[in-house]
Amino acid sequence: MKKRICILYTGGTIGMVLTPRGYAPRRGYLGPVLRALPQLSSPDAPAWELVEMDPLLDSSNVAVAQWRDIGRAIFQRYDQYDGFVVLHGTDTMAYTAAALSFSLENLQKPVVLTGSQIPLCRLRSDGPENLITSLLIAADGRASEVCLYFGGKLLRGNRAVKRSADGFRAFSSPNYPPLALTGVTIRYDEAALCRPAPDGPPALAALEQVPIGVLKVFPGIQFELFEPIMTQRLRGIVLETFGAGNIPDEAGSLPPLIRKAWQSGTVLTVCSQCFEGGVKLGEYAASAALTAAGAVSGGDMTTEAAVAKLYYLFSKGYDAPRVKALMAQNLRGERTDA
Ligand code: ASP
Repeated sequence: MKKRICILYTGGTIGMVLTPRGYAPRRGYLGPVLRALPQLSSPDAPAWELVEMDPLLDSSNVAVAQWRDIGRAIFQRYDQYDGFVVLHGTDTMAYTAAALSFSLENLQKPVVLTGSQIPLCRLRSDGPENLITSLLIAADGRASEVCLYFGGKLLRGNRAVKRSADGFRAFSSPNYPPLALTGVTIRYDEAALCRPAPDGPPALAALEQVPIGVLKVFPGIQFELFEPIMTQRLRGIVLETFGAGNIPDEAGSLPPLIRKAWQSGTVLTVCSQCFEGGVKLGEYAASAALTAAGAVSGGDMTTEAAVAKLYYLFSKGYDAPRVKALMAQNLRGERTDA
């Protein structure tokens, strides 16, 4: 029996056409294009059906409301299909993959995000290979989690980052090995596929537009200028620090702000600006004050995963101490256990 895969088109370059304002997705365009691809009607291809989201978006416009809609679209069809391929713009694909990895609780089927750098309507499009291989991965079933396939690599969704604006190998997961590499064959890494086991039936968590912020530390940053948003407005902050969690704070202005923020219920998670490696608070004196003031280490989580996780945990209705405790734990393979 052929496996059945649902292809969910959310927008993004893969299905875009050239308009007077530049490339944009067009409703109803992708179906005939996919039906005309001979590989997709090959006897070796799984059975597939296309569902278009409404509206179709450039992924720079995809955020919490769309993550909720995509999650719902998958969850409503969960029993009808063996797996899902989500066609998505590359710009925020890593955020969406991370968000779905949290909101689709106890997922036991593959959800593979993919897209392309060049649209299918162009001769050199990388879309056919990305789509066809994603379909096979979704039908295979070994990667029964939210993952991202692009340019020969299958990555854990909540470990992925977009690293190139124009290369075909646009994504990597610097702190986690690829779940599979493709060449002539698709080679899965069984050890990398391990992650926390589901602890109940599949469920969908409704994500909400919680006030979250990302603050990137830079030489000369005047933390006091950020006091109002850090201590009054935001419920969660990802602080992107230097190296292993270090901050320029000779004047000592940040720890009192973090303390004040924590007292008013804001969870501050420390991530690193470095592409590889993670945060080790206390390794240097320059970071010790962060923990003492109430910040939590994001370990080797990407900023994308930390942002999505904050949205998820606050949307669950958890209070700040619980959110802080869970940010430090590995929920879906998004961080390496301490
Ligand atoms: N701007 C596009 C998007 O993210 C880029 C892409 O798909 O590659 O929707």
